[in-house]
Amino acid sequence: MMTARSGLPPAGAGRQLPPLALASLLAILALFAVLGHEGRRVAQTLVLAAPMLAWLAWPVRHAGLARLRAVAAWLWIMAFVLDGSVRAYLLSAYQAAPESSFVLGAIANTGVREGSEYLVTQWRPLTLWTLLSVSAAVLVWRLIAQARPAPQARPSRWIMAGLALVVVIGAVGHASKPWRRLHPVAFWPDWGRSVAALRDNWADEQHERDEALRRALLDRPTVAWAGRSTVVMVISDSINRDNLSLYGYRRPTTPRLAALKEMEGERMLVLRNAWSADASTLPALRNMMGFGAPGRPDARHLLALARAAGYKTFWMSNHDDVAVDQQHARLADVVDLVNRTPGRSSASLDGGLLDCLQEAMHDPAGRKFIVVHLQGAHPHYGLRFPAGFAPFDAAADAVEADLVRSGRSLWLRRFRQQYDAALLYHDFVVAEMLHTTRAEGRADDRRAFVYLSDHGQEVGHESDRAGHSPGTAAGYRIPAIVWRSEPFADAALISARPFRADWVAWTMADLLGLDWAARQPGANVLDPAYAWQPPVLPIAVRSFTD
Ligand SMILES: [Zn+2]
Repeated sequence: MMTARSGLPPAGAGRQLPPLALASLLAILALFAVLGHEGRRVAQTLVLAAPMLAWLAWPVRHAGLARLRAVAAWLWIMAFVLDGSVRAYLLSAYQAAPESSFVLGAIANTGVREGSEYLVTQWRPLTLWTLLSVSAAVLVWRLIAQARPAPQARPSRWIMAGLALVVVIGAVGHASKPWRRLHPVAFWPDWGRSVAALRDNWADEQHERDEALRRALLDRPTVAWAGRSTVVMVISDSINRDNLSLYGYRRPTTPRLAALKEMEGERMLVLRNAWSADASTLPALRNMMGFGAPGRPDARHLLALARAAGYKTFWMSNHDDVAVDQQHARLADVVDLVNRTPGRSSASLDGGLLDCLQEAMHDPAGRKFIVVHLQGAHPHYGLRFPAGFAPFDAAADAVEADLVRSGRSLWLRRFRQQYDAALLYHDFVVAEMLHTTRAEGRADDRRAFVYLSDHGQEVGHESDRAGHSPGTAAGYRIPAIVWRSEPFADAALISARPFRADWVAWTMADLLGLDWAARQPGANVLDPAYAWQPPVLPIAVRSFTD
Protein backbone atom coordinates (compact mmCIF):
# COMPACT_ATOMS: atom_id res chain seq x y z
CA MET A 1 0.00 0.00 0.00
CA MET A 2 1.12 3.51 -0.73
CA THR A 3 2.09 5.67 2.22
CA ALA A 4 2.18 9.46 2.22
CA ARG A 5 4.94 10.79 0.01
CA SER A 6 7.03 13.88 0.63
CA GLY A 7 6.65 15.41 -2.85
CA LEU A 8 2.92 16.00 -3.26
CA PRO A 9 1.50 15.37 -6.72
CA PRO A 10 0.20 18.40 -8.57
CA ALA A 11 -3.36 19.27 -7.70
CA GLY A 12 -5.93 17.34 -9.75
CA ALA A 13 -3.35 14.90 -11.17
CA GLY A 14 -4.84 11.77 -12.75
CA ARG A 15 -4.11 8.24 -11.55
CA GLN A 16 -1.74 6.11 -13.62
CA LEU A 17 0.25 2.90 -13.26
CA PRO A 18 3.94 3.32 -12.39
CA PRO A 19 6.48 1.97 -14.93
CA LEU A 20 7.49 -1.04 -12.84
CA ALA A 21 3.89 -2.29 -12.55
CA LEU A 22 3.37 -1.73 -16.29
CA ALA A 23 6.53 -3.69 -17.09
CA SER A 24 5.36 -6.52 -14.81
CA LEU A 25 1.99 -6.70 -16.56
CA LEU A 26 3.75 -6.75 -19.93
CA ALA A 27 5.97 -9.58 -18.68
CA ILE A 28 2.93 -11.60 -17.57
CA LEU A 29 1.25 -11.08 -20.95
CA ALA A 30 4.46 -12.04 -22.75
CA LEU A 31 4.84 -15.18 -20.61
CA PHE A 32 1.36 -16.50 -21.46
CA ALA A 33 1.72 -15.45 -25.11
CA VAL A 34 4.94 -17.49 -25.36
CA LEU A 35 3.38 -20.47 -23.55
CA GLY A 36 0.31 -20.58 -25.78
CA HIS A 37 1.55 -19.46 -29.17
CA GLU A 38 4.40 -20.04 -31.52
CA GLY A 39 6.51 -17.78 -33.75
CA ARG A 40 4.93 -14.63 -35.14
CA ARG A 41 1.72 -15.20 -33.22
CA VAL A 42 3.46 -14.37 -29.93
CA ALA A 43 4.16 -10.82 -31.14
CA GLN A 44 0.71 -10.51 -32.73
CA THR A 45 -0.98 -11.49 -29.47
CA LEU A 46 1.08 -8.94 -27.53
CA VAL A 47 0.18 -6.20 -29.99
CA LEU A 48 -3.51 -7.00 -29.49
CA ALA A 49 -3.10 -6.87 -25.70
CA ALA A 50 -0.92 -3.75 -25.50
CA PRO A 51 -3.45 -0.90 -25.96
CA MET A 52 -4.85 -1.69 -22.51
CA LEU A 53 -1.40 -1.11 -21.02
CA ALA A 54 -1.28 2.25 -22.78
CA TRP A 55 -4.56 3.18 -21.12
CA LEU A 56 -3.22 2.13 -17.72
CA ALA A 57 -0.20 4.39 -18.30
CA TRP A 58 -2.45 7.33 -19.04
CA PRO A 59 -3.40 9.57 -16.08
CA VAL A 60 -7.13 9.29 -15.45
CA ARG A 61 -8.64 11.96 -13.22
CA HIS A 62 -12.17 10.84 -12.57
CA ALA A 63 -12.18 8.33 -9.69
CA GLY A 64 -15.14 6.38 -11.11
CA LEU A 65 -13.45 6.07 -14.47
CA ALA A 66 -10.21 4.93 -12.79
CA ARG A 67 -12.14 2.15 -11.03
CA LEU A 68 -13.86 1.14 -14.25
CA ARG A 69 -10.49 1.09 -15.98
CA ALA A 70 -9.04 -1.17 -13.30
CA VAL A 71 -11.82 -3.74 -13.74
CA ALA A 72 -11.69 -3.56 -17.54
CA ALA A 73 -7.91 -3.95 -17.55
CA TRP A 74 -8.09 -6.97 -15.26
CA LEU A 75 -10.71 -8.69 -17.43
CA TRP A 76 -8.78 -7.83 -20.59
CA ILE A 77 -5.45 -9.14 -19.32
CA MET A 78 -7.04 -12.26 -17.81
CA ALA A 79 -8.61 -13.07 -21.17
CA PHE A 80 -5.10 -13.31 -22.57
CA VAL A 81 -3.80 -15.22 -19.54
CA LEU A 82 -6.57 -17.87 -19.72
CA ASP A 83 -6.24 -18.09 -23.49
CA GLY A 84 -2.52 -18.74 -23.12
CA SER A 85 -3.10 -21.34 -20.38
CA VAL A 86 -5.64 -23.36 -22.37
CA ARG A 87 -3.48 -23.27 -25.48
CA ALA A 88 -0.37 -24.22 -23.53
CA TYR A 89 -2.18 -27.16 -21.93
CA LEU A 90 -3.37 -28.46 -25.33
CA LEU A 91 0.10 -28.01 -26.80
CA SER A 92 1.81 -29.87 -23.98
CA ALA A 93 -0.78 -32.66 -23.82
CA TYR A 94 -1.55 -33.15 -27.53
CA GLN A 95 0.75 -30.92 -29.60
CA ALA A 96 -2.54 -29.54 -30.91
CA ALA A 97 -4.10 -26.10 -31.31
CA PRO A 98 -7.65 -25.55 -30.00
CA GLU A 99 -8.97 -25.07 -33.55
CA SER A 100 -7.37 -28.30 -34.84
CA SER A 101 -9.80 -30.97 -35.99
CA PHE A 102 -8.35 -33.24 -33.30
CA VAL A 103 -9.48 -30.93 -30.49
CA LEU A 104 -12.71 -29.71 -32.15
CA GLY A 105 -13.78 -33.29 -32.86
CA ALA A 106 -13.00 -34.45 -29.33
CA ILE A 107 -14.91 -31.57 -27.70
CA ALA A 108 -17.92 -31.81 -30.00
CA ASN A 109 -18.10 -35.52 -29.32
CA THR A 110 -17.68 -35.49 -25.54
CA GLY A 111 -20.63 -36.19 -23.29
CA VAL A 112 -20.88 -35.24 -19.62
CA ARG A 113 -19.62 -38.58 -18.37
CA GLU A 114 -16.73 -38.79 -20.79
CA GLY A 115 -15.86 -35.23 -19.87
CA SER A 116 -15.71 -36.04 -16.19
CA GLU A 117 -13.64 -39.18 -16.84
CA TYR A 118 -11.27 -36.99 -18.79
CA LEU A 119 -10.97 -34.54 -15.90
CA VAL A 120 -10.09 -37.46 -13.63
CA THR A 121 -7.23 -38.67 -15.85
CA GLN A 122 -5.88 -35.20 -16.50
CA TRP A 123 -6.30 -33.67 -13.06
CA ARG A 124 -2.58 -33.13 -12.49
CA PRO A 125 -1.79 -30.95 -15.50
CA LEU A 126 -5.21 -29.28 -15.23
CA THR A 127 -4.63 -28.42 -11.57
CA LEU A 128 -1.23 -27.05 -12.44
CA TRP A 129 -2.60 -24.76 -15.14
CA THR A 130 -5.50 -23.69 -12.94
CA LEU A 131 -3.14 -22.77 -10.10
CA LEU A 132 -0.94 -20.84 -12.49
CA SER A 133 -3.94 -18.92 -13.88
CA VAL A 134 -5.32 -18.15 -10.42
CA SER A 135 -1.92 -16.87 -9.26
CA ALA A 136 -1.73 -14.72 -12.37
CA ALA A 137 -5.23 -13.37 -11.64
CA VAL A 138 -4.23 -12.29 -8.13
CA LEU A 139 -0.94 -10.82 -9.27
CA VAL A 140 -2.51 -8.89 -12.15
CA TRP A 141 -5.11 -7.39 -9.82
CA ARG A 142 -2.47 -6.31 -7.28
CA LEU A 143 -0.39 -4.71 -10.02
CA ILE A 144 -3.37 -2.83 -11.44
CA ALA A 145 -4.24 -1.62 -7.93
CA GLN A 146 -0.89 0.18 -7.77
CA ALA A 147 -2.31 3.06 -9.85
CA ARG A 148 -1.33 6.30 -8.13
CA PRO A 149 -1.49 10.05 -8.82
CA ALA A 150 0.77 11.06 -11.69
CA PRO A 151 3.96 13.00 -10.81
CA GLN A 152 3.25 15.58 -13.51
CA ALA A 153 -0.05 17.08 -14.63
CA ARG A 154 0.53 15.80 -18.19
CA PRO A 155 2.87 13.13 -19.44
CA SER A 156 5.93 14.25 -21.40
CA ARG A 157 5.72 14.57 -25.17
CA TRP A 158 7.88 11.45 -25.62
CA ILE A 159 5.69 9.33 -23.45
CA MET A 160 2.58 10.59 -25.22
CA ALA A 161 4.13 9.72 -28.58
CA GLY A 162 5.07 6.26 -27.31
CA LEU A 163 1.57 5.57 -25.98
CA ALA A 164 0.03 6.81 -29.23
CA LEU A 165 2.28 4.44 -31.18
CA VAL A 166 1.18 1.47 -29.05
CA VAL A 167 -2.47 2.39 -29.62
CA VAL A 168 -1.95 2.85 -33.38
CA ILE A 169 -0.18 -0.50 -33.82
CA GLY A 170 -2.83 -2.14 -31.65
CA ALA A 171 -5.53 -0.58 -33.84
CA VAL A 172 -3.83 -1.94 -36.96
CA GLY A 173 -3.82 -5.40 -35.37
CA HIS A 174 -7.51 -5.14 -34.54
CA ALA A 175 -8.31 -3.89 -38.05
CA SER A 176 -6.77 -6.92 -39.75
CA LYS A 177 -9.21 -9.84 -39.72
CA PRO A 178 -6.82 -12.82 -39.48
CA TRP A 179 -4.87 -10.95 -36.81
CA ARG A 180 -7.96 -9.90 -34.84
CA ARG A 181 -9.11 -13.54 -34.75
CA LEU A 182 -6.24 -14.25 -32.35
CA HIS A 183 -7.82 -11.96 -29.76
CA PRO A 184 -9.29 -14.25 -27.10
CA VAL A 185 -12.54 -12.29 -27.03
CA ALA A 186 -12.97 -12.97 -30.76
CA PHE A 187 -11.36 -16.39 -30.86
CA TRP A 188 -13.26 -18.37 -28.22
CA PRO A 189 -16.84 -17.47 -29.23
CA ASP A 190 -15.78 -18.34 -32.79
CA TRP A 191 -14.35 -21.61 -31.53
CA GLY A 192 -17.61 -22.38 -29.72
CA ARG A 193 -19.50 -21.85 -32.98
CA SER A 194 -17.17 -24.27 -34.78
CA VAL A 195 -17.84 -26.94 -32.15
CA ALA A 196 -21.61 -26.39 -32.42
CA ALA A 197 -21.48 -26.53 -36.22
CA LEU A 198 -19.57 -29.80 -36.10
CA ARG A 199 -22.14 -31.26 -33.73
CA ASP A 200 -24.98 -30.10 -36.00
CA ASN A 201 -23.35 -31.80 -38.96
CA TRP A 202 -23.37 -35.05 -37.07
CA ALA A 203 -26.91 -34.66 -35.77
CA ASP A 204 -28.41 -35.98 -38.94
CA GLU A 205 -26.27 -37.76 -41.43
CA GLN A 206 -29.22 -39.67 -42.87
CA HIS A 207 -28.54 -38.14 -46.26
CA GLU A 208 -24.90 -39.28 -46.22
CA ARG A 209 -25.95 -42.80 -45.30
CA ASP A 210 -28.57 -42.93 -48.08
CA GLU A 211 -25.89 -41.81 -50.53
CA ALA A 212 -23.45 -44.47 -49.30
CA LEU A 213 -26.06 -47.19 -49.80
CA ARG A 214 -27.07 -45.88 -53.21
CA ARG A 215 -23.45 -45.88 -54.42
CA ALA A 216 -22.86 -49.36 -53.00
CA LEU A 217 -25.91 -50.75 -54.82
CA LEU A 218 -24.67 -49.21 -58.08
CA ASP A 219 -21.44 -51.18 -57.60
CA ARG A 220 -23.44 -54.44 -57.69
CA PRO A 221 -20.94 -56.22 -55.43
CA THR A 222 -21.10 -60.02 -55.50
CA VAL A 223 -19.87 -62.66 -53.05
CA ALA A 224 -17.18 -65.02 -54.28
CA TRP A 225 -18.80 -68.16 -52.83
CA ALA A 226 -22.28 -69.62 -52.67
CA GLY A 227 -22.42 -70.87 -49.08
CA ARG A 228 -22.97 -69.35 -45.66
CA SER A 229 -20.49 -66.87 -44.25
CA THR A 230 -19.99 -65.00 -40.97
CA VAL A 231 -17.39 -62.27 -40.55
CA VAL A 232 -16.76 -60.54 -37.21
CA MET A 233 -14.78 -57.31 -37.01
CA VAL A 234 -13.75 -56.20 -33.53
CA ILE A 235 -12.60 -52.57 -33.39
CA SER A 236 -10.99 -51.68 -30.11
CA ASP A 237 -9.85 -48.34 -28.76
CA SER A 238 -6.49 -46.97 -27.58
CA ILE A 239 -4.57 -50.26 -27.64
CA ASN A 240 -0.81 -49.95 -28.10
CA ARG A 241 0.56 -53.28 -29.34
CA ASP A 242 3.82 -52.70 -27.42
CA ASN A 243 1.85 -53.49 -24.26
CA LEU A 244 0.55 -56.89 -25.41
CA SER A 245 2.59 -59.94 -24.43
CA LEU A 246 1.40 -61.39 -27.76
CA TYR A 247 3.72 -58.77 -29.26
CA GLY A 248 6.57 -59.38 -26.82
CA TYR A 249 5.60 -57.16 -23.87
CA ARG A 250 7.10 -58.41 -20.63
CA ARG A 251 3.96 -58.23 -18.53
CA PRO A 252 1.63 -61.16 -19.27
CA THR A 253 -1.23 -59.02 -20.61
CA THR A 254 -2.56 -61.43 -23.29
CA PRO A 255 -2.42 -65.03 -21.97
CA ARG A 256 -5.72 -66.00 -23.61
CA LEU A 257 -4.94 -64.65 -27.06
CA ALA A 258 -1.49 -66.24 -26.89
CA ALA A 259 -3.09 -69.61 -26.06
CA LEU A 260 -5.48 -69.22 -29.00
CA LYS A 261 -2.60 -68.41 -31.30
CA GLU A 262 -0.86 -71.56 -30.10
CA MET A 263 -3.97 -73.60 -30.79
CA GLU A 264 -5.02 -72.02 -34.09
CA GLY A 265 -1.63 -71.93 -35.78
CA GLU A 266 -1.90 -71.02 -39.48
CA ARG A 267 -5.53 -69.99 -39.10
CA MET A 268 -4.58 -67.01 -36.93
CA LEU A 269 -2.33 -64.18 -38.07
CA VAL A 270 -0.84 -61.73 -35.60
CA LEU A 271 0.21 -58.83 -37.84
CA ARG A 272 3.49 -57.77 -36.24
CA ASN A 273 3.79 -54.35 -37.90
CA ALA A 274 0.33 -52.81 -37.65
CA TRP A 275 -0.12 -49.03 -37.72
CA SER A 276 -3.06 -46.68 -37.52
CA ALA A 277 -3.04 -43.65 -39.78
CA ASP A 278 -4.87 -41.48 -37.22
CA ALA A 279 -4.37 -40.78 -33.53
CA SER A 280 -8.04 -40.34 -32.57
CA THR A 281 -11.26 -42.32 -32.90
CA LEU A 282 -13.40 -40.43 -35.42
CA PRO A 283 -10.87 -40.00 -38.26
CA ALA A 284 -9.59 -43.53 -37.64
CA LEU A 285 -13.06 -45.06 -37.95
CA ARG A 286 -13.90 -42.97 -41.01
CA ASN A 287 -10.73 -44.21 -42.67
CA MET A 288 -11.28 -47.83 -41.64
CA MET A 289 -14.87 -47.94 -42.86
CA GLY A 290 -14.17 -45.72 -45.88
CA PHE A 291 -11.39 -47.74 -47.57
CA GLY A 292 -8.81 -45.12 -46.63
CA ALA A 293 -10.47 -42.37 -48.71
CA PRO A 294 -13.67 -41.42 -46.87
CA GLY A 295 -13.74 -37.84 -48.11
CA ARG A 296 -13.75 -38.56 -51.82
CA PRO A 297 -16.91 -38.05 -53.86
CA ASP A 298 -16.80 -41.71 -54.94
CA ALA A 299 -16.10 -42.89 -51.38
CA ARG A 300 -17.37 -46.34 -50.39
CA HIS A 301 -18.51 -47.47 -46.96
CA LEU A 302 -17.68 -51.03 -45.95
CA LEU A 303 -21.03 -51.63 -44.24
CA ALA A 304 -22.98 -50.31 -47.23
CA LEU A 305 -21.01 -52.49 -49.61
CA ALA A 306 -21.53 -55.60 -47.48
CA ARG A 307 -25.25 -54.86 -47.28
CA ALA A 308 -25.45 -54.34 -51.03
CA ALA A 309 -23.82 -57.75 -51.49
CA GLY A 310 -26.53 -59.39 -49.38
CA TYR A 311 -24.90 -59.52 -45.96
CA LYS A 312 -27.03 -58.94 -42.91
CA THR A 313 -25.01 -56.30 -41.04
CA PHE A 314 -24.74 -55.76 -37.28
CA TRP A 315 -23.16 -52.92 -35.32
CA MET A 316 -22.76 -53.51 -31.60
CA SER A 317 -20.99 -50.97 -29.48
CA ASN A 318 -19.89 -50.09 -25.99
CA HIS A 319 -19.35 -46.46 -27.01
CA ASP A 320 -21.76 -43.64 -26.27
CA ASP A 321 -20.84 -41.61 -29.30
CA VAL A 322 -23.14 -39.53 -31.52
CA ALA A 323 -20.71 -39.18 -34.40
CA VAL A 324 -19.86 -42.90 -34.66
CA ASP A 325 -23.53 -43.70 -34.32
CA GLN A 326 -24.45 -41.35 -37.17
CA GLN A 327 -21.54 -42.04 -39.50
CA HIS A 328 -21.33 -45.82 -39.18
CA ALA A 329 -23.62 -47.70 -36.78
CA ARG A 330 -26.89 -46.63 -38.40
CA LEU A 331 -25.80 -48.05 -41.74
CA ALA A 332 -26.20 -51.53 -40.24
CA ASP A 333 -29.40 -53.60 -40.29
CA VAL A 334 -29.16 -54.30 -36.57
CA VAL A 335 -27.77 -51.74 -34.12
CA ASP A 336 -27.06 -52.72 -30.53
CA LEU A 337 -25.69 -49.98 -28.29
CA VAL A 338 -25.14 -51.35 -24.81
CA ASN A 339 -23.72 -48.17 -23.35
CA ARG A 340 -26.61 -45.71 -23.17
CA THR A 341 -26.71 -45.01 -19.47
CA PRO A 342 -24.51 -42.06 -18.60
CA GLY A 343 -22.94 -42.26 -15.16
CA ARG A 344 -23.10 -46.06 -14.77
CA SER A 345 -19.50 -46.81 -15.32
CA SER A 346 -19.86 -50.51 -14.46
CA ALA A 347 -22.30 -50.87 -17.37
CA SER A 348 -19.60 -49.76 -19.76
CA LEU A 349 -17.34 -52.81 -19.46
CA ASP A 350 -16.71 -54.35 -22.87
CA GLY A 351 -17.69 -57.79 -21.56
CA GLY A 352 -21.30 -56.59 -21.77
CA LEU A 353 -21.10 -57.17 -25.53
CA LEU A 354 -20.31 -60.91 -25.28
CA ASP A 355 -24.01 -61.84 -25.07
CA CYS A 356 -24.84 -59.60 -28.04
CA LEU A 357 -22.23 -61.32 -30.17
CA GLN A 358 -23.50 -64.76 -29.16
CA GLU A 359 -27.01 -63.75 -30.12
CA ALA A 360 -25.88 -62.44 -33.50
CA MET A 361 -23.95 -65.66 -34.16
CA HIS A 362 -27.22 -67.56 -33.77
CA ASP A 363 -29.14 -65.25 -36.10
CA PRO A 364 -30.45 -67.47 -38.93
CA ALA A 365 -29.26 -65.17 -41.77
CA GLY A 366 -26.97 -66.99 -44.22
CA ARG A 367 -24.44 -64.18 -44.49
CA LYS A 368 -23.59 -61.98 -41.55
CA PHE A 369 -21.15 -59.15 -41.08
CA ILE A 370 -20.86 -58.20 -37.41
CA VAL A 371 -18.93 -55.12 -36.27
CA VAL A 372 -18.15 -54.90 -32.55
CA HIS A 373 -16.90 -51.55 -31.24
CA LEU A 374 -15.10 -51.83 -27.90
CA GLN A 375 -13.86 -49.17 -25.50
CA GLY A 376 -10.65 -51.19 -25.11
CA ALA A 377 -8.27 -49.15 -22.99
CA HIS A 378 -9.70 -45.71 -23.74
CA PRO A 379 -8.89 -43.30 -20.87
CA HIS A 380 -9.76 -43.42 -18.01
CA TYR A 381 -7.93 -46.77 -17.80
CA GLY A 382 -9.20 -47.42 -14.29
CA LEU A 383 -12.77 -47.73 -15.63
CA ARG A 384 -11.89 -50.38 -18.24
CA PHE A 385 -11.74 -53.39 -15.93
CA PRO A 386 -13.89 -54.73 -13.08
CA ALA A 387 -13.48 -53.05 -9.68
CA GLY A 388 -10.84 -54.64 -7.49
CA PHE A 389 -8.96 -56.12 -10.44
CA ALA A 390 -5.29 -55.21 -9.83
CA PRO A 391 -2.98 -57.73 -11.51
CA PHE A 392 0.05 -55.47 -11.83
CA ASP A 393 -0.33 -53.12 -8.87
CA ALA A 394 2.42 -54.56 -6.71
CA ALA A 395 4.65 -54.81 -9.74
CA ALA A 396 8.37 -54.71 -9.03
CA ASP A 397 8.91 -56.25 -12.46
CA ALA A 398 11.11 -55.56 -15.48
CA VAL A 399 8.56 -53.12 -16.95
CA GLU A 400 8.50 -51.08 -13.73
CA ALA A 401 12.30 -51.11 -13.56
CA ASP A 402 12.52 -49.85 -17.16
CA LEU A 403 10.09 -47.04 -16.42
CA VAL A 404 12.03 -46.02 -13.31
CA ARG A 405 15.26 -46.08 -15.31
CA SER A 406 13.80 -43.78 -17.96
CA GLY A 407 12.75 -41.36 -15.23
CA ARG A 408 8.99 -41.87 -15.50
CA SER A 409 7.09 -40.33 -12.61
CA LEU A 410 5.23 -42.32 -9.99
CA TRP A 411 1.81 -41.25 -11.27
CA LEU A 412 2.75 -42.29 -14.81
CA ARG A 413 3.89 -45.71 -13.58
CA ARG A 414 0.59 -46.03 -11.76
CA PHE A 415 -1.25 -45.24 -15.03
CA ARG A 416 0.84 -47.89 -16.76
CA GLN A 417 -0.28 -50.48 -14.20
CA GLN A 418 -3.92 -49.53 -14.80
CA TYR A 419 -3.42 -49.54 -18.55
CA ASP A 420 -1.92 -53.02 -18.45
CA ALA A 421 -4.74 -54.22 -16.18
CA ALA A 422 -7.22 -52.90 -18.77
CA LEU A 423 -5.33 -54.88 -21.43
CA LEU A 424 -5.50 -58.10 -19.40
CA TYR A 425 -9.28 -57.69 -19.09
CA HIS A 426 -9.38 -56.79 -22.78
CA ASP A 427 -7.52 -60.03 -23.57
CA PHE A 428 -10.37 -61.93 -21.91
CA VAL A 429 -13.01 -60.06 -23.95
CA VAL A 430 -11.28 -60.36 -27.34
CA ALA A 431 -10.33 -64.03 -26.81
CA GLU A 432 -13.93 -64.81 -25.81
CA MET A 433 -15.16 -63.08 -28.96
CA LEU A 434 -12.80 -65.04 -31.15
CA HIS A 435 -13.86 -68.19 -29.37
CA THR A 436 -17.53 -67.33 -29.97
CA THR A 437 -16.84 -66.64 -33.64
CA ARG A 438 -15.15 -70.04 -33.96
CA ALA A 439 -17.62 -72.14 -32.04
CA GLU A 440 -21.11 -70.63 -32.01
CA GLY A 441 -23.79 -70.78 -34.69
CA ARG A 442 -24.17 -73.29 -37.50
CA ALA A 443 -21.35 -75.67 -38.25
CA ASP A 444 -21.39 -75.12 -42.02
CA ASP A 445 -20.50 -71.38 -41.80
CA ARG A 446 -17.37 -70.07 -43.42
CA ARG A 447 -15.99 -67.78 -40.70
CA ALA A 448 -13.52 -64.96 -40.30
CA PHE A 449 -12.53 -62.65 -37.46
CA VAL A 450 -10.50 -59.45 -37.49
CA TYR A 451 -9.37 -57.53 -34.43
CA LEU A 452 -7.60 -54.19 -34.43
CA SER A 453 -7.44 -50.90 -32.52
CA ASP A 454 -8.51 -47.52 -33.90
CA HIS A 455 -5.22 -45.94 -32.73
CA GLY A 456 -2.50 -46.38 -30.14
CA GLN A 457 -1.82 -44.75 -26.81
CA GLU A 458 1.11 -43.08 -25.09
CA VAL A 459 1.59 -44.39 -21.54
CA GLY A 460 5.14 -43.36 -20.80
CA HIS A 461 6.55 -45.01 -23.94
CA GLU A 462 8.29 -41.92 -25.26
CA SER A 463 7.37 -39.23 -22.76
CA ASP A 464 6.11 -38.79 -19.21
CA ARG A 465 2.54 -38.63 -20.42
CA ALA A 466 -0.56 -40.79 -20.70
CA GLY A 467 -3.26 -40.41 -23.33
CA HIS A 468 -4.00 -40.08 -27.04
CA SER A 469 -0.84 -39.04 -28.79
CA PRO A 470 -0.74 -37.54 -32.29
CA GLY A 471 2.85 -36.45 -31.63
CA THR A 472 4.54 -39.78 -30.81
CA ALA A 473 4.75 -43.16 -32.58
CA ALA A 474 2.97 -44.73 -29.57
CA GLY A 475 -0.18 -42.98 -30.79
CA TYR A 476 -0.13 -45.10 -33.97
CA ARG A 477 1.25 -48.51 -32.94
CA ILE A 478 -1.75 -50.84 -32.88
CA PRO A 479 -2.36 -54.59 -32.74
CA ALA A 480 -4.09 -56.40 -35.61
CA ILE A 481 -5.21 -60.04 -35.69
CA VAL A 482 -6.83 -61.94 -38.56
CA TRP A 483 -8.41 -65.35 -38.04
CA ARG A 484 -10.11 -67.51 -40.66
CA SER A 485 -11.71 -70.95 -40.55
CA GLU A 486 -9.44 -72.02 -43.41
CA PRO A 487 -5.70 -71.82 -42.68
CA PHE A 488 -3.57 -69.26 -44.52
CA ALA A 489 -1.04 -70.81 -46.87
CA ASP A 490 1.55 -68.06 -46.29
CA ALA A 491 0.83 -67.12 -42.68
CA ALA A 492 4.41 -66.22 -41.72
CA LEU A 493 4.86 -64.02 -44.78
CA ILE A 494 1.61 -62.09 -44.23
CA SER A 495 2.24 -61.63 -40.50
CA ALA A 496 5.54 -59.88 -41.22
CA ARG A 497 4.04 -57.43 -43.72
CA PRO A 498 3.56 -53.86 -42.56
CA PHE A 499 -0.15 -53.14 -42.23
CA ARG A 500 -2.13 -49.90 -42.04
CA ALA A 501 -5.55 -49.71 -40.42
CA ASP A 502 -6.94 -47.24 -42.94
CA TRP A 503 -6.67 -50.02 -45.54
CA VAL A 504 -8.41 -52.63 -43.38
CA ALA A 505 -11.65 -52.38 -45.39
CA TRP A 506 -9.85 -53.93 -48.38
CA THR A 507 -8.91 -56.90 -46.19
CA MET A 508 -12.42 -57.10 -44.74
CA ALA A 509 -13.81 -57.15 -48.29
CA ASP A 510 -11.55 -60.12 -49.04
CA LEU A 511 -12.77 -62.01 -45.95
CA LEU A 512 -16.38 -61.16 -46.87
CA GLY A 513 -15.67 -62.50 -50.37
CA LEU A 514 -16.79 -59.20 -51.95
CA ASP A 515 -16.06 -58.56 -55.57
CA TRP A 516 -16.76 -55.30 -57.39
CA ALA A 517 -15.14 -53.19 -60.08
CA ALA A 518 -13.11 -50.91 -57.78
CA ARG A 519 -11.53 -53.71 -55.73
CA GLN A 520 -7.84 -53.00 -54.97
CA PRO A 521 -5.86 -56.18 -54.19
CA GLY A 522 -2.75 -54.04 -53.66
CA ALA A 523 -4.26 -52.62 -50.45
CA ASN A 524 -5.31 -56.01 -49.06
CA VAL A 525 -2.66 -57.39 -46.70
CA LEU A 526 -3.83 -60.97 -47.43
CA ASP A 527 -3.39 -60.68 -51.19
CA PRO A 528 -0.22 -61.82 -53.03
CA ALA A 529 -0.42 -58.50 -54.93
CA TYR A 530 -0.20 -56.46 -51.68
CA ALA A 531 1.82 -53.30 -52.34
CA TRP A 532 2.71 -51.50 -49.11
CA GLN A 533 2.84 -47.73 -49.02
CA PRO A 534 3.60 -46.03 -45.69
CA PRO A 535 0.82 -43.77 -44.38
CA VAL A 536 1.54 -40.06 -44.09
CA LEU A 537 1.81 -39.41 -40.35
CA PRO A 538 2.55 -36.11 -38.57
CA ILE A 539 5.58 -37.77 -36.96
CA ALA A 540 8.79 -39.23 -38.33
CA VAL A 541 8.79 -43.06 -38.24
CA ARG A 542 12.19 -44.69 -38.54
CA SER A 543 10.83 -48.00 -39.77
CA PHE A 544 7.34 -49.42 -40.22
CA THR A 545 8.74 -52.91 -39.65
CA ASP A 546 10.50 -52.80 -36.28
ZN1 LIG B 1 -10.15 -44.03 -30.00
